[in-house]
Amino acid sequence: MESSEDTLLYEGKAKKIFTTDHPEVVRVAYKNDTTAFNGEKFEQLEGKGRLNNKISSFFFEQLHQQGLRSHFVETLSETEQLVRRVEIIPLEVVTRNVAAGSLSKRIGWEEGKKLPAPLVEFYYKNDDLGDPMLADAHIHMLGLASESELAELRQQGLAVNDCLKQLLEPCGILLVDFKLEFGRDAEGNLLLADEISPDTCRFWDAATQARLDKDRFRRDLGGVVEAYEEVWRRLTEGVK
Ligand code: UDP
Repeated sequence: MESSEDTLLYEGKAKKIFTTDHPEVVRVAYKNDTTAFNGEKFEQLEGKGRLNNKISSFFFEQLHQQGLRSHFVETLSETEQLVRRVEIIPLEVVTRNVAAGSLSKRIGWEEGKKLPAPLVEFYYKNDDLGDPMLADAHIHMLGLASESELAELRQQGLAVNDCLKQLLEPCGILLVDFKLEFGRDAEGNLLLADEISPDTCRFWDAATQARLDKDRFRRDLGGVVEAYEEVWRRLTEGVK
């Protein structure tokens, strides 16, 4: 898979991006590195990269079948995928169905309270500033996205939410919230990018509310990789 001519384009907290022979396609390598709280908490978790690669590939393939385009091209190996090269927009598009995490802190709703309707929020992807939440006016002022692009991002957040919920419900998994990132291709078209995995979503066991996602790491609950494995097992084998 790896060619000696491949160049490391970018290394993020959880993934590395390499060039390929094709100028519009890059190789993503999922790492076992696990970080939280803006990189303050760090651990290597054996098997995490493999599981996130599989789960993310699975979701992108399913979204594609539902007519939702993304950067995903194909799975390359246990820990790698090929994706279309895009310029990432520094916005985190968070869609929520149930109160948790920063929303609970901001508005005082207890974790687990169902929202009256899915909610889409935008955060500035900027570690120095601690990823603050942005209103539309800030996004326009910063020149991050136009009004029509913001409308499209909201619409895509909701469409991905519908599709993921349909996939997860039969697996006994409650989709609490998730974060998406988007990029622009060479023609300037918006494209869903990054990953969709237990690192970027909150998955709760529908019956017990047990956390099956990165909150196990953030909150020192233990069994992080086991929980990711359980998500993968349920997606491929159903609930036992
Ligand atoms: N999230 C993420 N990366 C971030 C921040 C949040 O993937 O840098 C995801 C997180 O896993 C959750 C959703 O976005 O599924 C909402 O996170 P929240 O705003 O509640 O922040 P947190 O409590 O994780 O700090």
